[in-house]
Parts: sequence; C-alpha cells; structure tokens
Amino acid sequence: MHRGGRPPRPHSTRGSDRRVRALLDWFPAHRRSLPWRRGRTPYRTWVSEVLLQQTRVAQAAPYFERFVRQFPTVRSLAAASEQEVLKAWEGAGYYARARNLHRAAGLLMRERGGRLPERSDELRQLPGVGPYIAAAVASLAFGEPVVALDSNGRRVLARWTLERSDPRSLRVSHRLERWVLGRVPRERMGEFNEALMELGETLCRPRHPDCGRCPVASDCRARQELPDPGEIPFSRRPRAKPLVIGAVTAIERRGRWLLLRRPSTGLLGGLWEFPGGKLEPGETPEAAGRRELREETGLTAGPLEPVATIRHEYSHFRVALHLFRARSPRGTVRARGRRHRWVGSRELRRLPLPRATLKMIPFLERPRVPGRASPDSGSRPGRTGV
Ligand code: SF4
Repeated sequence: MHRGGRPPRPHSTRGSDRRVRALLDWFPAHRRSLPWRRGRTPYRTWVSEVLLQQTRVAQAAPYFERFVRQFPTVRSLAAASEQEVLKAWEGAGYYARARNLHRAAGLLMRERGGRLPERSDELRQLPGVGPYIAAAVASLAFGEPVVALDSNGRRVLARWTLERSDPRSLRVSHRLERWVLGRVPRERMGEFNEALMELGETLCRPRHPDCGRCPVASDCRARQELPDPGEIPFSRRPRAKPLVIGAVTAIERRGRWLLLRRPSTGLLGGLWEFPGGKLEPGETPEAAGRRELREETGLTAGPLEPVATIRHEYSHFRVALHLFRARSPRGTVRARGRRHRWVGSRELRRLPLPRATLKMIPFLERPRVPGRASPDSGSRPGRTGV
C-alpha cells in the first residue's frame, strides 16, 4: 500500500489478469496529486472518502483541506463542538456526514484511543460508514483485499464488461465485485480500487469517455461493441427537480440579525438560518414571510421590505426564496424549542449557515436603494446535498 503520501512503489504486475494489468501499470504514472493523497493517513483517507461520497473531486479538495487543517487528527475532531465541525463543513452539503464524522471521532477516542479499526466489517460499525466507505478505507489505508466500488468504479466496470443492467442494483454490483475478485491479486486490491476510481474520474467520464487514451480500451467490451460506450450505464432520464417557493424574513434590531438554529437531525441539521418557510397555496410571499415569522418566533412585523429572490439547488429539489427585511418587530422572541440568537455581521459569519442563507448576506449588507426592484440571485444556483 502507498501510505504516507509517497508515490506507490512500482509492483510487479505478474500474477494479475492481463485485463487488469494494463490499469495497474497505467495508474502510477497518471495518478493526480490530490490533497488526501499527500501525507496519507487512515484518518485523512476516512475524511476524504466521506467527503467524496457526495461531492466531486474538484469541489471536495478545498473543503477537505479546510477541514483537516482545522481538525488534523481524530483527537482534535472529537474535542471540537458540533457547531465548529458544521462550520468547517459549511458549503460542502449533506451535513449529516459532518455530524457522523464528529460522533465517530468521539467514539474512537472513548473506545480505541483514537485509532481507526483496520477491517472493513469493524469500520462499518462507525456512524455514517457504509459498505463503500468501509471498503475504501480498509483497502486504501490498511491493505485489506476488499473491493470498493463507488459510482465511478461501477461505471467503468459496467462499460468494461458490457453490463447492460443498472450497476447500482445489488445484484449487478455483486456481479462486478466477483469479476474484480477473480482477476486482481489480493495485495493489489487497494491500488486497483483507487486506479478504477481515477480512470472513472479522468477518462471514463459519465459522458464522452476518452477511450483513445484509456489503458483498458483493447479489452473494453463497450468500446468494442457499441457505437458510443458512453451509453452505458443505461439509465432513465432524471426527472426535473420540484421547485419549492418560500419566504424568509431577516429581522434587524440595533445592527443584529435574528437567527434560529435548525434541529440537530434531518435536513441541514444544526445550521442557523433566518425565520421562514414554504408558501401555502394562494399565499403571497409577503404574507408567508409575516406568517412564518409569527409562527417561528412569535414576533409581529410591520410592512416587509423585499430584498432579493434567492435561488438554490439541493440534491432533490430547487428553492426560490423571497427574502424580506423587517425592522423593529413587536413582541418577544418565542422560538418554540429552537435556539435563537441575535448576531452582528462578524458573528453571523462564524456560525454554520446553509448555502442559501450565505447567499442572502451580501444582499442584506448592500445599501438600500428606495423604490428599486429586488434582485434575483441568478439562474446558476449553487448545489447542496442535504
Ligand atoms: S475504453 Fe472507453 S468506455 Fe471502456 S473503460 Fe476505457 S474510457 Fe471507459
């Protein structure tokens, strides 16, 4: 195994099936220098695999660097508060991943002196660690001979073996695993797993695979038998994401904004946001903003001032949020079991916030121009997993 950030030693590929030998020979010369490959430790491998499960490599790299800079070890992660961990994860989406990393780090400190287990079946006992992450960490960091197939790996194998059924199904996934186990030497499994993911990320992309540069092209059945190997995996066209329209009210009092903390579990759990929610049928955005404010905080506002429309895309739906500003609301805050805080601009930036809320801040900080139409955050929304 090539731990510790050193490039892998060139192994002999004798004993490998000739079909996998080409890939194992290709990988050392083509592996990209990625932050989790530098100074590799089991902890960094674990964090990177958690992050990469729902985030593409190019997007994940800066989040990974920020996270491990702040929490370089299991011990430092376990010692942090959940809010600090969520803040370090801010923008990466799928926040349950960060909460699970934090919980798992606490468990590892209490039960194993901060050491990760080396076997995939033990790793699977940790919060947030499923079969893929367990196999990836066990094979990459500890050399266990288990197959780790992420969506990239499954796509490459489906094309390589001309698998026409959905490679996400358990039945097909097991078939692909057996194909690998029958061909890859046990001591090269981690390297093979990583090489396969690399091939899927760089050449065997979802669309327009670059077969001309592919090390397994001469064996690839999709390449040999289909006019366009990119047709595999065959899948149904994704359905358009539903649009949710909501209203959000930023209440300002003496230069401080009122924020509510979301419940610790579920969608965007533990993050802070302005009061707001979905429009009800037939309701105007302003009426919804006023109603949500009353329901969530007990405050009654005068006229709401439209500020902007914020658009954002989550993994399964899109939102268009009408953002209003209100000053001097009447009443005392009663947040119905949720924590609330009045925060100034500097503190606002220290709290973990959903991406949609982050998009609102520049609009709220802009000087007001009376009578001007409220702007739209644009038609190229950011995307967040929830
Ligand atoms: S030959 Fe083309 S389709 Fe086949 S594995 Fe390589 S890049 Fe993918």
